[in-house]
Amino acid sequence: AEEVGGGDKEVVREYFNNSGFQRWKKIYGETDDVNKVQRDIRLGHSKTVENVMAMLTDEGPLKGVTVCDAGCGTGALSIPLAKEGAIVLASDISAAMVAEAKKQAEEQLSADSEGAGPVMPKFEVNDLESLNGKYDTVVCLDVLIHYPQSKADGMIAHLASLAEKRLILSFAPKTFYYDLLKRVGELFPGPSKATRAYLHAEADVERALQKVGWKIRKRGLTTTQFYFARLIEAVPA
Ligand code: SAM
Repeated sequence: AEEVGGGDKEVVREYFNNSGFQRWKKIYGETDDVNKVQRDIRLGHSKTVENVMAMLTDEGPLKGVTVCDAGCGTGALSIPLAKEGAIVLASDISAAMVAEAKKQAEEQLSADSEGAGPVMPKFEVNDLESLNGKYDTVVCLDVLIHYPQSKADGMIAHLASLAEKRLILSFAPKTFYYDLLKRVGELFPGPSKATRAYLHAEADVERALQKVGWKIRKRGLTTTQFYFARLIEAVPA
């Protein structure tokens, strides 16, 4: 099988700059031109974003907190974070996704009459292995699905190295493997079955975190009919 870092990463980049961009922009958007499956995934994903916002705000206000949104897509998380006053780096491997996120942020984040208001996220086209710097919090939602476990370990280690206080990850759990298997075709349908979907056992993700001195503090799970995401919050052990 191909792996991320070799052929897979180029395939993923190409997909999310073209047909994948069109497809996911629609799913993550608000328009009515979605089918039943896409509508269900939209709902599941929005629940994940809500859960992440709850996890983050539970620990106190986000004003001035630095957050790296690795694989930001259309900005579904970056924008609400900025609205809460977080200082956000929104980064994605796909230039099309970053441009869309920036456009939506400019539409949604306006300064008030006093010129105060949310800080516009910093947008960057970058694959997450190339991210650097330090952030209070690093978040990476629904990106691991593009990584086989062999590559996911390194990716998790790298994201943890950027985070000072917490790392939040979501991924498709392997527990639902057989269920999902039937539906993977729905996630990446049509002529562009370009990308492969990888599921991850929670124990493998936990082990990857432990190896670099992190432990899981909170767990969440979002399930709808066609969307499954395990959500974890990790902190230095
Ligand atoms: N995190 C966003 C959200 O939850 O709304 C987007 C999730 S979308 C399913 C996956 C995103 O991961 C895509 O925007 C894709 O371009 C990005 N991606 C995939 N592989 C990546 C990599 N190696 N580095 C950075 N971004 C990547």
